[in-house]
Amino acid sequence: MRLSTITNWAYGATLLLTLASGTTMLMASGAEKNEREAVAQRARFDQLTSALLEDSYRQTEQARSFSITGDPTHLVAYQREKAALRSVEQRISHLRDAGATESELRALRDALHWADALTDEQEAALRAAQAGDQDTARTILFGDEYGRELDRIAAQIGKFQYMLDQRTEAAIARATATARQWRSMSEIMLGATALLFLCVLYFILKQRILHPVVRLSDVVTRLAAQDFAAIPPDISHVDEIGDMAQAIRIFRENGLERQRLEKERDADRIMQDLLSRMTQRLQGCDNSADLTGVVRRFAPEIAPGFAGRLYIYDARRNAMRQACDWLSPQWSKAEFSPSACWALRRGQTHRPSGNIIDIPCEHLGSETPAPTICMPLAAQGETIGLLYFEEPANVSADQIERSEKYLEMLAENIGLALANLRLRDALREMAMVDALTGLSNRRQFDAAIEDAVAVSSRDRSPLACLMIDIDHFKRFNDAHGHDAGDAVLRAVGNVLNESLREDGYAFRLGGEEFVLLMPHFSLDQAIDRARQVQAKIQNLRVQHGHQQLGPVTASFGLAAYPDHGRPNQLVQTADAALLRAKSQGRNQIVVATVRDDASVQV
Ligand code: GH3
Ligand code: MG
Ligand code: MG
Repeated sequence: MRLSTITNWAYGATLLLTLASGTTMLMASGAEKNEREAVAQRARFDQLTSALLEDSYRQTEQARSFSITGDPTHLVAYQREKAALRSVEQRISHLRDAGATESELRALRDALHWADALTDEQEAALRAAQAGDQDTARTILFGDEYGRELDRIAAQIGKFQYMLDQRTEAAIARATATARQWRSMSEIMLGATALLFLCVLYFILKQRILHPVVRLSDVVTRLAAQDFAAIPPDISHVDEIGDMAQAIRIFRENGLERQRLEKERDADRIMQDLLSRMTQRLQGCDNSADLTGVVRRFAPEIAPGFAGRLYIYDARRNAMRQACDWLSPQWSKAEFSPSACWALRRGQTHRPSGNIIDIPCEHLGSETPAPTICMPLAAQGETIGLLYFEEPANVSADQIERSEKYLEMLAENIGLALANLRLRDALREMAMVDALTGLSNRRQFDAAIEDAVAVSSRDRSPLACLMIDIDHFKRFNDAHGHDAGDAVLRAVGNVLNESLREDGYAFRLGGEEFVLLMPHFSLDQAIDRARQVQAKIQNLRVQHGHQQLGPVTASFGLAAYPDHGRPNQLVQTADAALLRAKSQGRNQIVVATVRDDASVQV
C-alpha cells in the first residue's frame, strides 16, 4: 500500500476517533445531567413529603397546646392551618407533577386520608376543650389511639418515601453507571485518538522524514567518496526532502557524466600516447620489416579486438601483398589485385558491414564475412598500401565506435610511415645506383666486394672479379661530344647488366671503368663470361642522333679466388691484369696469375 494511502487512512481514522470521542464526551455529560436531575428529583420528593407530614404535626401541636393552655391563639393558629389544608388530590398533585408513580401516590393518598381522619378527632377534641371539657380533649389528643394514628400516618408517609427513595436511588444508580460508562468510553476514545495521532506522527516522522533523510545522507556520503554506485532513493514527494532527493539525483548524474568524460579523456590520452609512440617508432624504421614489426605490435593495442592485415603495394607485380597480420584475421587473401578492393578503387574507406547495404570486396573471398573495414594508404595521390580490419564480435558497440575513431589515425600514420620508407628507399637507391647506366655505383661495389670477400674467405667458395675499361673512350667524347660518350657508356652498361642479371653483380666504378663481381664462378666460368661480354661490346652498334658511332672495344682484367691469391687481394690483382691488357694493346682479356706480373692473355 502506498505511503500516502496509509497516511490518508490514518488521518481519516484519527478524525473519526476524534468525532467519536467528542460524541461520547457529550453523552457522558448528558448522563451526568440525568444523574443530577435524579438527585434533584429525590430532594424535591423529600421536601414535598416532609411538608405533608409536618402539616399533621403542626395541627396536632396547635390542638394539643389549646387543649392544655386554653389559649385562643392556638385555636386561631389551628384554624388557619386547617383552612390552608387543601384537598388530598391537590396536595399530592405536586408530587405527581414531580414524577411520583400512581402506586406510590396510592400509599401517600392513604396517609393523607388518615391525616384528614385525624383532623376530625382534633376538631372533636377542640370542641370539647372549648366546651370546657379539658380532660376529654386531652384524652383524645394525647391518647394512645391518637398517637398510634399519628405514627401510622408517619409510617405510611415513610413507606411512600421509601418507595420513592427506592425508585430514585435506582434511577440515580443507573444514571451514575451510564455517566461513568460514557465517561470511560470517552476517555478510551480520547486515549485511542491521542495514541493514533502519535502513531501517525511517528509514522510520518519515520517514513517521510527520518528514513528518507537517513538514506539520502548515506547516498550523499558515498557520492562524496566518488562511489557513484550509490543510487538515491526514488522520492517523489513535493516537499523539501523530495527537492533534496532530486538535487542529489542530479548531482549523481553530473558526477557519473564527469567520471565518464574523465574515463574517455584518460582512454584518449592513453591512445594518443600509443599513437605518438607508434609514430616515433615508425619514423625510426629503416625497412618494411621494421615497419611491419611496429604495426603488428601497436595496431592490436590501438584498436583492441580488431584483427587485421597490412598490405603493401608491389609495383612490379601490380598487387597488394600482405606485409603482416595481427590477431589472426579470417578473411582477405594474402595477395590480390588492387582492383579487387573497393577502398583502393574509390580511394576511400570501405565498410561493407552493419545496416549499410554495400558490396563486399573481392579479396575477402566468397563467404559473407563479419563486418570488415578497408582503409587505403596513399601518399601524394598514389596508393601505396591497404589496412584491413575485421570488427570483433564480442565487443560492445560503444567500444567499437571508440576504436574506430583511432583506426583513421592509425591508417594515416602507417600511410605516412610507408611513404617515408618508400622515399628513403628511393633516395638510397639513388645514392647507390649510377644514374647514367642504372648499374650500382662504386659505393655499392665497396660494400658488395667486402661481403663477397668475407663469404669466400669463410666458406672458401670461389669468387671472380672482372675489371673492364673502355678503350680510347675519350675519343668518342672528343669526336662526337659528351652526349655521344654517354650513349656509349649506357650501351656498355646494358651489356654488363644483362650479362649478369641472375648470378653476379655489375658496377660502374667511375668514368668508363666497370667491374663484374661473380661469386661462386670458377676461373673457367669467369673466362667464358668475360668472353661473352667482350663479344657483346664488340658487336655494339651505338647510335647517337643520326650518327653511327664507331666500334666499341674494352680491355678486361680477370682475377679469381682461389686461383690468384687471397680474396681480399682480388681487386688489385684484377686491376693489375687490366693494366696489362691496356699495355699489351687493348681489346683483350688478361687473366691474372698468382703473381701479377705473370698474367696471361686469353
Ligand atoms: P684508354 O684506352 O687508355 O683507357 O684511353 P681512354 O681515352 O679510354 O682513357 P682516359 O682516361 O684517357 O679518358 C677517359 C675519359 O672519359 C676522360 C673523361 O673526360 C671521360 N669521361 C669520364 N667520365 C665521363 C662521362 O660520364 N661521360 C663522358 N661522355 N665522358 C666521360
Ligand atoms: Mg680509364
Ligand atoms: Mg679507357
